[in-house]
Amino acid sequence: MGTLASYLKGAWVQPSGEGSPIHDATTGEEVGRVSGAGLDLGPALAWSRRVGGKAVRSATFAERGAWLTALGKLVHVNRDMLLDVSRQGGTTRSDGKFDVDGASATLTYYGALGAKLGDARFLRDGEAKPILQSKRFVAQHLQLPRRGVALHINAYNFPAWGMAEKLAVAVLAGMPVVVKPSPTTAPLAHRIVELWVDAGVMPEGIISLLHGEPEGLFDHLTSQDCVAFTGSAKTGRWLRSHPAVVACGARVNVEADSVNAAVVGPDVTVGTETFEMMVSDVVKDMTQKAGQKCTAIRRVLVPEGRVSDTIEALIERLEGEAVGDPAERGVRVGPVVDAAQQQRVLDGIESLSEGAQVVWQAKIEVGAGAFVAPTLLKMSQGHPCVHQTEVFGPVCSVVAYSGDAEEAVRLVREGDGGLVCSVYSDDVAWAGDVVLGVAPWHGRVHWGSRKVAAQSPGPGTVLPNLVHGGPGRAGGGEELGGVRGLAFYLQRTAIQADRGLLGRILED
Ligand code: NAP
Repeated sequence: MGTLASYLKGAWVQPSGEGSPIHDATTGEEVGRVSGAGLDLGPALAWSRRVGGKAVRSATFAERGAWLTALGKLVHVNRDMLLDVSRQGGTTRSDGKFDVDGASATLTYYGALGAKLGDARFLRDGEAKPILQSKRFVAQHLQLPRRGVALHINAYNFPAWGMAEKLAVAVLAGMPVVVKPSPTTAPLAHRIVELWVDAGVMPEGIISLLHGEPEGLFDHLTSQDCVAFTGSAKTGRWLRSHPAVVACGARVNVEADSVNAAVVGPDVTVGTETFEMMVSDVVKDMTQKAGQKCTAIRRVLVPEGRVSDTIEALIERLEGEAVGDPAERGVRVGPVVDAAQQQRVLDGIESLSEGAQVVWQAKIEVGAGAFVAPTLLKMSQGHPCVHQTEVFGPVCSVVAYSGDAEEAVRLVREGDGGLVCSVYSDDVAWAGDVVLGVAPWHGRVHWGSRKVAAQSPGPGTVLPNLVHGGPGRAGGGEELGGVRGLAFYLQRTAIQADRGLLGRILED
C-alpha cells in the first residue's frame, strides 16, 4: 500500500517524509503508512472553497441529492471489496457491513432528501412576514450555504459511515468537503474516496482527502469554514479552544465520547421480552466492532434484586460470542484497532476495577493482534468512575440501584451528557419519568418495551433521520436529523426588504 496519497486541488499528492505506520489490527503487521508532511494546506483549502464551493452551490438540492445517491451506489456495488479492506481495522464481516452499509444507507437517505427539496439552492425559513405595521416592508429568513470549506475530522471506528454521514449533510447543504480520516483505519476511507473520484460523480473540488497529521491545519481556517469533529472528548476540547479556531470564528461541531447508560425498570423480570431485549442490546454493544461504538451501552443500571439474574443472563449470551481472527467464520468479536487502543482499554478496565469487580472475562489467546477479552464488571452505585470512564472496547458494567425512577435519573446524569440512553420498561408511568428525566442530557433516548422488542435495531444504531450527538461530555454537537442537520452548514439570515423586490430575487 505504501504511503497513502492525499487528494488535494483535484490531484493525488504524495506526502514527503516517512510518516507513521498503519497496522493490521489482527496480525500487528504494518500494511501502509500515512503522512501529512509537505502538504501545502493553505492553497488546497482555498482551492476547495473557490472551485468546489462554486460547483456545489450552483447545483440544486435535487442535483446534489443525485450525486449522493450515486456515491451511495458506488459504496454498495463495491461492498465486498470494501469489506476486505475494512478487515485491516479488525472488523468481522458483520462489523464491516455495519460500517459500509451504514455509509450507503445514509448517502441514499440524503440523496432522497435532496430530491424532495427539489430545484432550490438554499432554504427558505418560514414565510415573508411584515415588519412593524407596514405591509410592504417585510422580513424573510433564509438559510444559505456558508462560503467556506467543511473540514471533517473523523474518528477511527467508522471510517466509512462516519465519513459518509458528515459528507452527505455538508454536500446537500452546499459546502465543499475536506475529509481527514483517522490514520489507524485510513485505508477504507481512502479506497472509498478513490472510488468516488474515479467515477467522477461530483464536479471537481467538492471532495478533498487529507491524510496524516498535517501541521498547522487550523491556521488556514477562515470565518466561513465549518469544522465537524468526531473523536475523544479530550481532542474535542483541544480543538474547540485552539487559538486559530477561536480567532477566526469558524463553526465547530464536536461529537465526543459518552458513557451511555441502559436503565432496567423494576417491572422487568427475567425471561420477559423486554428483559431479553435488554440482554441482546447489551451483548450486541459489547461485541459489535469489539465495543468500539460511540453509542455502545457502557453501564447498565439494574434494580438490586435483579443484579445476579441479569449478570447470569448476560454471561450466558456472552459465552457464545467467539473472539478471534475476524476473517474466520463464526468469529463474532475481533481485535480493537491497534496496540495503543488495546492498552487504553486495558487501562480503562483497571480504572473501573477501583470500584468494581470483574465478574466475567472471555478466555482469549493473546497473539500479535490487538485483542482484548470482552469483560463484564459489577459496580457499586456509589463509585463515580463507572459514570465517568468511557472504556472504548468490549467492556460493560452492571450497576445496582434501588429501582426508584428519580435515583435512576440522578445516576444517569452523572455521565454528564451522552449520545444515547436506553430505558427498558413496560410500566408507562415509571418509564415516562425516566425517559423525560434523562432526555435533556442526551441526543437520543431509546425506550425498549415488549411492544417494540421485535422491531428495534437497538440503541447503538445511528439513523440518518434522527439527531446524532449529545450535550455536555458528548461534545454538545448535533449531526444528521434530516433537513435540520443541514443547519450547521447554512447561515441563517433575515432579509428585510420591500415585498415585491424581495419576491423578484427569490423568484416568487
Ligand atoms: P481521537 O484520538 O480524538 O481522534 C479523532 C480524530 O481527531 C482523528 O482523525 C485524529 O487524527 C484527529 N486529531 C487528533 N488530534 C489532532 C490534531 N492535533 N490535529 C488534527 N487532527 C487531530 O479519537 P479516536 O481515538 O479516533 O476515536 C475514539 C473516540 O471517538 C472515542 O472516545 C469515541 O467515543 C469517540 N467517538 C465519538 C463518536 C460520536 O459520534 N460522538 C463517534 C465515534 C467515536 P490523528 O490520529 O491524525 O491525530
